[in-house]
Order: sequence, then C-alpha cells, then structure tokens
Amino acid sequence: MRKEAYDVVIVGAGIVGAACADALAERGLRVVVVDYGVVGSGATAAGMGHIVVMDDSDAQFALTNYSQRLWRELRPELPEDVEYEQSGTIWVAADAEEMAEVFRKRDYYQRRGVSVEVLDANQLKEAEPNLRDGMMGGLLVPGDAVLYPPCAARFLIRRAQQRGAKVKLGATVTEISEKGIRASDGQEIAADIVVNAAGANAAELTPGIEIKKRKGHLVITDRYPGFLRHQLVELGYLKSAHSVTSDSVAFNVQPRQTGQILIGSSRQYGAEHKKVDQGILAKMIRRAQEYMPALGSMSAVRVWTGFRAATPDKLPLIGPFPGKKSLFLATGHEGLGITTSLGTAKILAAQVTGAKPEIPVEPYLPSRLAQEYARV
Ligand SMILES: Cc1cc2nc3c(=O)[nH]c(=O)nc-3n(C[C@H](O)[C@H](O)[C@H](O)COP(=O)(O)OP(=O)(O)OC[C@H]3O[C@@H](n4cnc5c(N)ncnc54)[C@H](O)[C@@H]3O)c2cc1C
Repeated sequence: MRKEAYDVVIVGAGIVGAACADALAERGLRVVVVDYGVVGSGATAAGMGHIVVMDDSDAQFALTNYSQRLWRELRPELPEDVEYEQSGTIWVAADAEEMAEVFRKRDYYQRRGVSVEVLDANQLKEAEPNLRDGMMGGLLVPGDAVLYPPCAARFLIRRAQQRGAKVKLGATVTEISEKGIRASDGQEIAADIVVNAAGANAAELTPGIEIKKRKGHLVITDRYPGFLRHQLVELGYLKSAHSVTSDSVAFNVQPRQTGQILIGSSRQYGAEHKKVDQGILAKMIRRAQEYMPALGSMSAVRVWTGFRAATPDKLPLIGPFPGKKSLFLATGHEGLGITTSLGTAKILAAQVTGAKPEIPVEPYLPSRLAQEYARV
C-alpha cells in the first residue's frame, strides 16, 4: 500500500476546497486535494454564481462583504470562462411591506459602507423593463456580481497546482483519522491536517456535524440578449429563505454573458434525490412569470438540481473541529458558498498557520455548536 505525506489534505474539490487549496499552497504548505468527482462538480456545478452581500445576520454580512471584496481584487486574474460580470443586484419590492424592507436594507448597507440606491417604481421599470407593472420599487446594489462557478473552481485549483498543490480525482475518501485520510481504493494519505470541505456530504465523514441537505432547482433558458440586466431577487425571498423547515420557491433571475437567463430558485429539506421535482419546478416557473410575464414564452434548455449544505444557524463551519486537533472544517455554506469561498479560504489558511484573520472568526467556528457535538 502506497502512503504519501503532506501538510494538509483537503477532502472536496468544490469551490470551497479549491479556494482553501489555493490559499494554503500560497502560504507554502504541501497540499493535496482529493475528490471522487471532477473539480467543481458538486453543489458548485449546481450553484447560481451570484456574488452577493447579504444581511441575514451581522456575521453573514461580514463574511459575504469580505468575500465579495476578495472576488473584486481577484477579478483581473480571472480567465474569461469564469464570466465574472459586475451586473449588480436589484432586490425587488412588490408591496409596501417589502418597500419598508428596501429602506431597512438601504440603511443597514449604507451604515457599513456598501453603496446602494433606492429605486422607485418608475426607476425600477427603467432599469428592468421586463418586470411586470405595479411593482413598488427596489434596492439596487451595484457592487454585486455574477460568475460561472465550475470555471471559477477550476481556476482556483489550477492556481493552487501552480503553487505546488496536488489533486487526486476519482478517489472516494472513506475515513478521516488523526493521521490523514483513507480512500476507497485502500490508499492512505498522511497529513498533519485534514480539511473536510466535502460540502453537503461533510457529515458522512465527520459524524456529529449538523448539516442538512437543502435541495435547489435551477432552469436556464435559450439566449435572449438584453432581456435582463441585473440579478433580480424578490424581497419575499427573505421570508422563504429564512424558513429552516418548509419547502419554498422565490423569484431569482440572473443574466448570463451568453444572453441566457438563469431562473431560480427553490429550497427543500428532506428531498435527498437529485431528480427534478415537477411540482416544485412548476411553482418556481409560475413565481418567475408573476414577476416577468414574458419568461412564459421563452424556451428552457436545461433544468437541474443541487444540494446546499445547511447548518442550524445558517452560518458556515470554518475552523478546527472541537476535540480533534488535526481536523478542520470548511463546509456548511448553504446558498452562499460561491460568494464566501474566498473569505472562507483566507480565514482557514490564517487558522492553520496561526496568523490573524482579517475579520473576526468566532461566528463561524465549529465550536459554537459544541453542545450539539457533545450530544452525539
Ligand atoms: C440551486 C443552488 C443555487 C445556488 N446559488 C448560489 C449563488 O448564487 N451564490 C452563492 O454564493 N452560492 C450559491 N449556492 C451555494 C453554493 O453552490 C455552495 O454553497 C457551494 O458550491 C459549496 O461549495 P463546496 O465546495 O463546499 O461544496 P461542493 O461544491 O458540493 O464540493 C464538495 C466536493 O466534495 C466532494 N466529496 C464529497 N464527499 C466526498 C468523499 N467522501 N470523497 C471524495 N470527495 C468527496 C464532492 O464530489 C464535491 O466535489 C447555490 C446552491 C444551489 C444548490
């Protein structure tokens, strides 16, 4: 049996594992990434690629805002196939209650230095002529961007490799130990540190971490250049995305560089199968048409599903696993892992090397859920 030795072995070559490999290799560590699929083939291939600042909590804001800045800094290096485009987000308000949320959100973002603009009904219509009449207005966040996640993951892995990292694909990790990992082909990889970045499967390798699979559907249309200019998200999305129990759909559309429109999205717990749920899909399309009626006459070219890794408090798990010195987690990013991959990687690399992270990390430490672990 062959045995190889590294400083760090990362389980998972999704965008989070890829970003971690890049950040750790940059610090001169000997890194290997192991995945049973290809690079960026898990939730990363399913994700929408909205690089978005969010404010469900101060901790979520801090990580998304920090990560978005890192994406902006990385932009000059990103190859064309990553399709990074700063198209901005408009949070669409359909009624007076949602318009009140526009003003709350504006105040929150402005106090923290994020540039935003309130749009009234006319300005919204001018910005997005294909929205239906009768909307109350919206909040434009011009700094938000979109990108194509699998190519972003490939770029990060390539850069990690240029920095000396190794990548092993087609190998299923069956066990994480104090000394490294074991793969299904019997191969062992020794490392001082193991990073579990296995996304929605992370709990299978580290029993006790509370991650639930939250299924999502997306649809992509044929090419309709100019139809949509910004990522549009209904403010009602907040009501549904906040729910930690029920199934939900919300209007969320994204312009792609190809002229295609990516239509989302749904959230379901307890749906472990990848197959498309026609009922949820119909609901999602109906919701999209309520906001943009002309979507009803467009052709869809593909529908797919993916699984978000959801934690009980909707924040990721980044850092040492309590009681296991050599194990670090980088998972639980739910619907924000494309955005927060870069911030996660910087934080993790600082933790591993004993450097000071650029933002406070306490809200993301796995130890915050230590009581949960104690129960298993
Ligand atoms: C429908 C949908 C829309 C989304 N939209 C957005 C968005 O607009 N913006 C945003 O920021 N985020 C979005 N997300 C969330 C984002 O896609 C995820 O948070 C992110 O991709 C997580 O990346 P990851 O690397 O942690 O996980 P993954 O991409 O799932 O990577 C985990 C990897 O681990 C590998 N693996 C697992 N178990 C093993 C094992 N035992 N052995 C070897 N390899 C293993 C898998 O093959 C996989 O490649 C969306 C998600 C979904 C489902």
